[in-house]
Amino acid sequence: MDLYPLFADLKGRAVLVIGGGAVAERKIAMLLRAGARIEVVATRLSEGLQALKRQGQLAHRALVFTPAQLDHAWLAVAATDDRALNQRVAAAAAARRVWVNVVDDVALSTFQVPAIVDRSPLVIAVSSGGSAPMLARRVRERIEKLLAPSLGTLAGLLDRWRARIRAARPQVDARRDWYERLLEGPLPSLVDAGAIDAAEREIASALAAPAAARTGRVILVGAGPGAAGLLTLDALRALQQADLILHDALVSEEVLELARRDAEKISVGKRRVGPSTAQAEIHRLLVEHARAGKVVVRLKGGDPFVFGRGGEELEALREAGIDYTVVPGVTAALACAAYAGIPLTHREHAQSLRLVTAHCADSIDTLDWRALAAERQTLAVYMGSHRLDLLRDRLIAHGRAADTPVAIIENGSRPQQRVLSGTLDELPVLAAAHQVQSPALLVIGEVAVLANRLHWYGAPPLAADVRAFAQAA
Ligand code: SAH
Repeated sequence: MDLYPLFADLKGRAVLVIGGGAVAERKIAMLLRAGARIEVVATRLSEGLQALKRQGQLAHRALVFTPAQLDHAWLAVAATDDRALNQRVAAAAAARRVWVNVVDDVALSTFQVPAIVDRSPLVIAVSSGGSAPMLARRVRERIEKLLAPSLGTLAGLLDRWRARIRAARPQVDARRDWYERLLEGPLPSLVDAGAIDAAEREIASALAAPAAARTGRVILVGAGPGAAGLLTLDALRALQQADLILHDALVSEEVLELARRDAEKISVGKRRVGPSTAQAEIHRLLVEHARAGKVVVRLKGGDPFVFGRGGEELEALREAGIDYTVVPGVTAALACAAYAGIPLTHREHAQSLRLVTAHCADSIDTLDWRALAAERQTLAVYMGSHRLDLLRDRLIAHGRAADTPVAIIENGSRPQQRVLSGTLDELPVLAAAHQVQSPALLVIGEVAVLANRLHWYGAPPLAADVRAFAQAA
């Protein structure tokens, strides 16, 4: 983060504005809305500023800037087109530790004025730190459209009730739950319809209801393959409610960013710890925190029930008598296929799709190879990048053609996605030549070749220069 956001209380505080033109007028209008006491230094005042002066809303302090004018100011704004003067203002302000904004000059400024959406008392500020003001303004416009104009009224109403709410729900967690339930109920629509009396009655009756004991629960959530846009609305809602998030190593930063700011996050990625101890430890954490009354989100890559051990976790919760719900996610096979341009069951090539895992030698031995090698079907192989030679040999031995197309999708749906395209025969070489990293998904079947024509995301599929690689090896 380049700039620290803050909302300043300027009521009755002196702000020195240097400059008296149209830009100064705009800045002053905003400062006046926040109740600042405006002092202007300028050789001449625009008509608008003269009017404000006549109404007693600003003081025209002097014609010429001198550093001492900053002595009792809390903030300064330099809105002149004289760069040398702006520089002197900035230097004098810095010497006095007075925050200064030099209009359109990021380098000279010690604070930036954000674009805002004003639903006072609710104010949303958007800033690009001066690097892309147009972008910040567009974001502001989108937020503006998103938020009902009545939101300000709602915030004002809640503000009037704040002391009573605090008194009736002194505990922070209980209060947050209460607010959440209140805002999910009819209150916002009552305010939106202008039924303020009914809205007040709604708040009063919600406050009078006995405080429910905080009961913890677990939401088992599929986080999808990485791109935040692939989360479901329910997943997003769960992330926004969570007190605690237990997430896998597979879950992307982009998704974790959407969690409630003060949610605690614990990574329970199983990459370092032994798998069995880790799983028991996860069960213990889920039960312990839910028992303590928390909303625990168990966040898993893809879908929680597809090679995700979600079932085992629910068994543990059921045994402990803890409430749970499940939010499905977009599993890697579907996401990777979509982002690589592979229609998994294209009717000219495949009539079925199998989700397979080839994790270790044991799991490889228990697979039904004859069924897997059947034609006109697509295999989506999870966690399969280790024993690719074995996978190829078994499939070919059981009758799959050596020239069956394959695709390896690494980091599917993420910015660093790579798609490798080849044939079953060259599968191990394809992976080795491009040093495939986890997470990667394997698609085997005629449809895999379509990635070469239908790809749309990131770079086109890469092929293995098999001969060059074989010679080098
Ligand atoms: N529950 C998950 C799968 C967990 S198993 C799901 O439904 O997707 C982990 C395996 O999933 C990885 O080894 C890899 O094969 C696959 N995988 C998960 N995310 C992936 C991604 N973004 N790109 C490619 N493969 C992925």
